[in-house]
Amino acid sequence: MTELMPAAFIGHGNPMNAIENNRYTESWTAFGASFATPKAVLVISAHWYVNITAVTAMKMPRTIHDFYGFPQQLFDVVYPAPGDPELAARVIDIVQPTYVGLDSDSWGIDHGTWSVLVHMFPKADVPVLQLSINSELPFDHHFNLGTKLHDLRKEGVLILGSGNVVHNLRLIDWNSPGEGTDWAHRFDDSMREIMTNDATNLGTANAHRDYALAVPTPDHFLPLAYVAGLSAAAQTPATTLLDGYEMGSLSMTAYEITGSKS
Ligand code: ZN
Repeated sequence: MTELMPAAFIGHGNPMNAIENNRYTESWTAFGASFATPKAVLVISAHWYVNITAVTAMKMPRTIHDFYGFPQQLFDVVYPAPGDPELAARVIDIVQPTYVGLDSDSWGIDHGTWSVLVHMFPKADVPVLQLSINSELPFDHHFNLGTKLHDLRKEGVLILGSGNVVHNLRLIDWNSPGEGTDWAHRFDDSMREIMTNDATNLGTANAHRDYALAVPTPDHFLPLAYVAGLSAAAQTPATTLLDGYEMGSLSMTAYEITGSKS
């Protein structure tokens, strides 16, 4: 009898979502309440995009305020969830021969993670780990690494990718709250077609006519590659948890890979 934890991709959007209540944050809260409390959460966040693959291994990861120009209230947020060094060692083991370094003092919990988890697990009582995105490796590496994380779901670990399918900050239009441009809709719809049918095709995204506009840099898109890998490993297509657009050039789409009790 193995219970399989769900996995999800969350479009985290504006850091202000951490301290606001809106239909996105309500969806994250509802998702967190829809299954048994996980043993831990492993997050692949767009905001830990570095030239190495590492997993956080500290007992008490710090809350990182990796942004500027936001209200003090956002800098005051602390998300005091513990880490899980033993699970970090397990992550390293499970993805071999891919090398993953243990990070005991560099990173922590960045806003791609805590802006979502303050809603999903407001008590901060579920241990949190982050896995960095190695910026030097191609899409297939990230997809394959995602497939290797599958067994962690059987061990009660919730795996989250946190980014945005469409994320172009240069083209943000502050006069378009709740709206997306035509190209944002086209790209997001195409990715949904893939994720909800056969996520193994996500690697074709860079051939999409709107890829350069939707994904000007890979950091916010690549967390989806991990969730696509998990979807493929479980042979379970994604379902849409939530959709929506903000400021023209952001999509807030979230996907769930449903868990199971078998
Ligand atoms: Zn972000």
